[in-house]
Amino acid sequence: MKWTESLISTLREDPKEAETISHKLMLKAGLIMKVASGIYNFLPLGWKVVLKIVNIIREEMNKAGAQEVLMPILSPAELWQETGRWSFYGKEMFRVKDRQDKDFALGPTHEEVITDMVRKYVNSYRQLPQILYQIQVKFRDEIRPRFGIMRAREFIMKDAYSFDKDEENAKKSYQRMFDTYNKIFSRIGFKFRAVEADTGAIGGTSSAEFMVLADTGEETIVYCPNCDYAANVEKAEGKIEKKGGNAGEKLEKIHTPEIRTVEELANFLKLKPEDTAKTILYMADGGMIAVMMRGDREINEIKLKNAIKANELRLATAEEIVNKTKAPVGFAGPVNLKEKGIKLYIDNSVAEMETMVCGGNEKDYHYSGVKRGRDFKEDKIIDVIKIQKGDFCPKCGKELSEQKGIEVGHVFYLGDKYSKAMNATFLDEKGKSKVFVMGCYGIGVTRIAAAAIEQNYDENGIIWPVSIAPFEVVIIPVNMKYKEGTDFAFKLYEDLKEKNIDVIIDDRDVSPGVKFKDSDLIGFPIRVVIGEKNFKNGKVEVKLRKEKQAEVVEKEKVIDKIIEGLKG
Ligand SMILES: [Zn+2]
Repeated sequence: MKWTESLISTLREDPKEAETISHKLMLKAGLIMKVASGIYNFLPLGWKVVLKIVNIIREEMNKAGAQEVLMPILSPAELWQETGRWSFYGKEMFRVKDRQDKDFALGPTHEEVITDMVRKYVNSYRQLPQILYQIQVKFRDEIRPRFGIMRAREFIMKDAYSFDKDEENAKKSYQRMFDTYNKIFSRIGFKFRAVEADTGAIGGTSSAEFMVLADTGEETIVYCPNCDYAANVEKAEGKIEKKGGNAGEKLEKIHTPEIRTVEELANFLKLKPEDTAKTILYMADGGMIAVMMRGDREINEIKLKNAIKANELRLATAEEIVNKTKAPVGFAGPVNLKEKGIKLYIDNSVAEMETMVCGGNEKDYHYSGVKRGRDFKEDKIIDVIKIQKGDFCPKCGKELSEQKGIEVGHVFYLGDKYSKAMNATFLDEKGKSKVFVMGCYGIGVTRIAAAAIEQNYDENGIIWPVSIAPFEVVIIPVNMKYKEGTDFAFKLYEDLKEKNIDVIIDDRDVSPGVKFKDSDLIGFPIRVVIGEKNFKNGKVEVKLRKEKQAEVVEKEKVIDKIIEGLKG
């Protein structure tokens, strides 16, 4: 591609709306253009990146024996009603009506559509396993679309689904996809980690996320430096250090005016935060529940939701709290809570405390010396504490560490969740009707482009991995009027194209400074500069974007140098 014939439009200023590095750089380098909140055009350079990602994914999926299909963006409500997800998905799902007033979804995912396809065409165990995938646009009506294409309302995903005759084979398919994902992300050149994850809205019994490691990542990964345990913090389990739980033996009601936080309370009573227990009130599927945990720790609401098997969970509002407990926010506690008809769950950490300070269910009052069993009885002990750095590995007991990541892939073992709900069956070896055992496997295709930038950039711009760079090589003739130089540049351009190297020549009649700036900003892996001074000595300059120093090489050796750099 010649620069003068391309639609490349870089910005000099940082775009104001961008909150993250990748969002900023994608706009600035002219990869994407915002159309509306969470909706983007991919400009030619950006789309080239996406197509290279698609290509890698497609090659590896095909190698693994998966077959590509294409399902529609629009799917009828009836399919979603079969599994109950028409209501479960809530406002995240874009819905439209046709002219006959029939409901359709703009697919956020395709389990229902594919299960419907397979139940029609697969009737016998002889046709199994089947792994089908598509690369398709998906829609999610995010509350707050942000970070550019990282959290968009319309994005491209690769979604795959496996169908097997039994659990044993389904686990093999799951493993096959897990291994394929490792290959895909390695080929892209990511530093990444596969971690245990929550199954969320997709459901199923086990899942893993593929996280690109980046300090700017939104997700927190808890991992063990000693063994292979790694999990999304949403899912992370572990043991926490037993401490505190000494708040006197005698139950005492204490006046605590103007005291709101755990720290204030502990200071006031000359105790430690871990001697207190906080009680949080939630609405779970419409009813109020109370959850207690040690005062110095945070709650993990996803673990809570799973532990109590709630479909909908949210914090109780101030009004709901006053109505039900007669006390304002901040004074909830376990003593006499049952009489108010509120179910009480306590975390393991509370079960380990001898005595504790708790809210008094009355404005400006707390209780000290509260003893479990004597002063309150829980309905159930659960695990709801958010695991953090310094807690202990659930596998080997060593201290856990943390790092930040960006989720780019997710594999789920689904079991029969969808096939059962949709009565998707086949005949087994004995002629008996059985439901399929399924798995599903997603990759955020467009998100990968953003994640690659979050992992690879510097103060001048993007540093693309060669595998997905918009062009692998940029040739910069410094002065377009220096004929010998530009002649060589164009000859090199043709030679590289001949060798299937993806090359662009910056043939604009602008200052070298502008050309260098743009080439660094867009992040082409290799830059070849043809300047008059070097060229008169038979030399050109080759610089790898990821390295600080350029190298001056004989012009006859430049192609070898480029090939070596691309392999780098
Ligand atoms: Zn461990």
